[in-house]
Amino acid sequence: MNGHEFALSIVPLIRPAYLPEYEPITEPDAHRTATRVGGTPFLPEGMRRPKHPDGDELVFALQYRLEELPVSIGPHEAGLLQLFARHYDRFDAGTAQEPETEELRWRLVAPQRLGEPEAAHAEGGTPSLEPRRVETWRRVGDWPGRDFSELMAQHLDVEEIEFDLLDAYMNNQAMHYGEKLGGYPTFSQEAEPPECLGCGAEMPFSFQLNEHGREVWWQYDSTMHVFACGTCPQQFRSIFN
Ligand SMILES: [Zn+2]
Repeated sequence: MNGHEFALSIVPLIRPAYLPEYEPITEPDAHRTATRVGGTPFLPEGMRRPKHPDGDELVFALQYRLEELPVSIGPHEAGLLQLFARHYDRFDAGTAQEPETEELRWRLVAPQRLGEPEAAHAEGGTPSLEPRRVETWRRVGDWPGRDFSELMAQHLDVEEIEFDLLDAYMNNQAMHYGEKLGGYPTFSQEAEPPECLGCGAEMPFSFQLNEHGREVWWQYDSTMHVFACGTCPQQFRSIFN
């Protein structure tokens, strides 16, 4: 395989991923049902913030307005998917082999209520992040970090890898380590995809979070990789590394 063939052979590995571009929310009650980080969550009437089994109130982290996303998350097409997390001073992420199950809570808020933002109500609770909403999702090409490195290693003895050609491919296509929807998980250590607690199937990678997480649910330098079952509703598992 010459360098050009090598470069072409790795192109099919590229997957689309979407990177959020945020803008601050300055009015506390605005964009209550938008895809956003922090601030006050949309709470349908009669619904409270979830609690940890030991009684801790969980902190609102973010919510995705599913019909506005460029990709599906699990089997869900519409509604507001909310993430609540235990505050970082008591957060236990578990391990890659045994990811947490109680420290994070995902829930889908009834879609029929989303046209009624006035039904949302503020209530007390641990202060959350600086509110920001996603204005756009920027599409990029995502590389499989680990696999790409292995491919390079296998082919480094090829005489003429056309690094200029690779650079051109890599220009807007890279391993994206930050927050993203879709693409590949950027594990820094070896990890296997988790199995769904509902059906037992291997869960596909869905999205990952990092910098916002550092402000809320863990203090060490780590990325949260989220896997969503493609068929079971509201089955998510997260691996931190
Ligand atoms: Zn499942």
